[in-house]
Amino acid sequence: MSRSADPVADLTTNTVFDADAAELWTTTVQFARQELAESAMRARDRSGEFWREGWRRCAAYGVQRLPVPADHGGLALSMLHTVVVLDALGYACDDAGLIFSINAHLWGSVVPLWLHGTPEQRRRYLGPLMAGELIGGHAMTEPSSGSDAFSLRTRARPQGQGFVLDGAKTFSTNAPIADIVVVFARIEGTEGPEGISAFIVERGTPGLTTGTPLDKMGLRTSPLGELALDGCVVGPEAVLGPVGGGAAVFNSSMLWERTCIVAPLVGAMQRTLERCVSYARTRRQFGKSIGRFESISAKVADMKVAVDTSRSIVRRAAQVIDSGPGGLLEASVSKLYVSEAAVGLHREALQLHGGYGYMTDYEIERGLRDVLASTIYSGTSEMQRHIIGRLMGL
Ligand SMILES: Cc1cc2nc3c(=O)[nH]c(=O)nc-3n(C[C@H](O)[C@H](O)[C@H](O)COP(=O)(O)OP(=O)(O)OC[C@H]3O[C@@H](n4cnc5c(N)ncnc54)[C@H](O)[C@@H]3O)c2cc1C
Repeated sequence: MSRSADPVADLTTNTVFDADAAELWTTTVQFARQELAESAMRARDRSGEFWREGWRRCAAYGVQRLPVPADHGGLALSMLHTVVVLDALGYACDDAGLIFSINAHLWGSVVPLWLHGTPEQRRRYLGPLMAGELIGGHAMTEPSSGSDAFSLRTRARPQGQGFVLDGAKTFSTNAPIADIVVVFARIEGTEGPEGISAFIVERGTPGLTTGTPLDKMGLRTSPLGELALDGCVVGPEAVLGPVGGGAAVFNSSMLWERTCIVAPLVGAMQRTLERCVSYARTRRQFGKSIGRFESISAKVADMKVAVDTSRSIVRRAAQVIDSGPGGLLEASVSKLYVSEAAVGLHREALQLHGGYGYMTDYEIERGLRDVLASTIYSGTSEMQRHIIGRLMGL
């Protein structure tokens, strides 16, 4: 097999994909280039504006329904093919916040409703969530409980057939714009994970208030905020999964989320690598292109290894989960490795671009700002190491 004369073009060859996956990747890149490229991205990054039209275009392409079985109206993609689509979106869509919001919607609402919803809950919410008509969020984290998620303080007091929810949530992706949020709360009087339940709470429910979006460093086009639950009354139809089954709902979400949420980072890493190669070939210092300096070409080589390794690790985790049961270990390995690799690669990309990389015009600094949260959300790197150690019998 011959290699093209242009090493940058060669970088887009996904050697770890089979023919089906490679075609899916290419088709999705074409979709993103045609439908998701827009000039206002830099302004929206500054103002922190969510791109609703981009959300609708992704829904029309099927992104919000990727893994859901066909009998529930989904595209029935395997997890492997789901991560291929997300990888391609990370590569070709400039708006990392939009793709992050879609991820939060998929793993925080769509997948829990598909896996744990009653037929009535699926009828009411799943179709509109997949069609892009409703936006979903997920609220576990509280001001006093992050990594120690199950120590949450939000309470669900039984009242008649339903519950009264009281508490405060924070860092909930999509909360400022969400039509429904899956809220986790402890049933009053219980202890341990068995006492936690998940509730579908609709925007506008009396007692539910969503704050203004929190201002953050990266992923600025993905709104994130606080929720206050103050005597928020929900009926029995709001309980997602069995009463006391919230930990299972959360854990099944996390299995999908930890594997899939890093897939767009792989595409983003590849895009940044390609920019680095182009820059290293054209930027000249001391009479030659900077790519001729060994310390620069070594950075590019390390980036290439990081992209290929990350893609293989995500793909492997998805394949293990597709062939289930299990995959917890692979999901945490994937989350830990890819997020750390993405931060490292973007840090080096900025260095390679010198002062220009630090300027907003080059959009290298935005790439770094957008990936930095990945070692924190969906369980920090420290917690992934803890989980991996525990699953290895320590
Ligand atoms: C962009 C973004 C989006 C998010 N979206 C959502 C969302 O949609 N829904 C939601 O519920 N939450 C969301 N979160 C919250 C996220 O899940 C938490 O921030 C994360 O779990 C860490 O919790 P914390 O911020 O309270 O940090 P803490 O748990 O207070 O941790 C602080 C530091 O201590 C370390 N640490 C804590 N415990 C241990 C331990 N046992 N061993 C070693 N180190 C430890 C952590 O690794 C970290 O370095 C989001 C966060 C971000 C940044």
